[in-house]
Amino acid sequence: MKALRLPSWKSDPVLEDVEVPSPGPGEVLVQVGAAGACHSDLHLMHDFEPGGLPWNPPFTLGHENAGWIHALGAGVTGFEPGQPVAVVGAWGCGTCERCLDGVETYCDRPDLAPVPGGGGGLGLDGGMAEYLLVPAARHLVPLPDGLDPVDAAPLTDAGLTPYHAIRRSAHKLGPTATAVVIGVGGLGHLGIQVLKATTAARVVAVDVREGARDLAARCGADLALPPGADLAAQIREFTGGRGADVVVDMVGADATLATAAACARPLADITVVGIAGGTLPVSFFGLPYEASVQTTYWGNRRELVEVLDLGARGLLRAETTIYTLDDAVLAYKDLAHGTVEGRAVVVP
Ligand code: NAD
Ligand code: ZN
Ligand code: ZN
Repeated sequence: MKALRLPSWKSDPVLEDVEVPSPGPGEVLVQVGAAGACHSDLHLMHDFEPGGLPWNPPFTLGHENAGWIHALGAGVTGFEPGQPVAVVGAWGCGTCERCLDGVETYCDRPDLAPVPGGGGGLGLDGGMAEYLLVPAARHLVPLPDGLDPVDAAPLTDAGLTPYHAIRRSAHKLGPTATAVVIGVGGLGHLGIQVLKATTAARVVAVDVREGARDLAARCGADLALPPGADLAAQIREFTGGRGADVVVDMVGADATLATAAACARPLADITVVGIAGGTLPVSFFGLPYEASVQTTYWGNRRELVEVLDLGARGLLRAETTIYTLDDAVLAYKDLAHGTVEGRAVVVP
């Protein structure tokens, strides 16, 4: 089968022919229906050296996957060939305290996981191929009626990651609150919809690109702003001088982190999702009183069930641009050039 593979660090992906895997005991082979192209893959291609992550290329890219059950390994029950499924991407050991809590993203025993801190497309072969080997059936969620794999694939990361980040701040997002979403790409445009579907907060979106700001407005943002010297002041003015209750930074650069700190209100959550590598200095007068700063990584199975439910009900809808597997390299080029609105999705 064809697969888009990362051959080594600091390299572009290449389309190669590889063997179709066969599922061993407990494993499931999924026929890929769609695989989203995440900006993290661009970071994988360009930003890491050997030793920078606990795993290494070569592997097939694509960590945002949905499709249909193709074959069940020995002992797997509860699924039928042909059944549509979404793939939960973070694959932990399955037996440690965190994994038992369903939080496989923060597995305590990464040494016992299929790959430490990763999953398919992140150290192991991912979904930019015709088939994807999933190591355990607990990493699969049946698709609810009304959601096909092309709609579902972006929800497994671009939807799930903001959902996790926003839900942990739900208690700060009452009707008088304001949330700020910085970066309205794959994650950001779904993050705005998560805020609209699950809270009554006002939503301010920030992006350098006009097309992304238009998308933010279509997704329900109350205000969409470009970065600029007076950005934080404009957000403060919008909130009657108080500042934002929750800022979710889907970029994570020095400038966006500085904006987050400058527009946040005392007791705010500043949640860093983007991995652009910026830093935010911490000092007594440098942050609003009792502001909490956190990074978050992806989301868990239970949250994906909720995200897919919102998707099936039309409350979360990824704006997608479809590419074939032959054009997957182009999908990443377009993503790097900032010409994708919403999510680029590869349909093999
Ligand atoms: P994307 O390229 O689709 O979107 C990024 C958006 O940010 C674009 O619209 C771009 O115009 C905008 N942008 C860039 N610089 C900006 C700036 N200085 N100010 C305002 N807007 C700016 O990317 P994506 O796939 O949505 O991913 C976003 C980030 O989140 C990436 O860094 C990615 O690696 C990371 N990510 C993190 C997790 C996690 O679990 N923490 C999961 C997925 C992706
Ligand atoms: Zn991702
Ligand atoms: Zn574990």
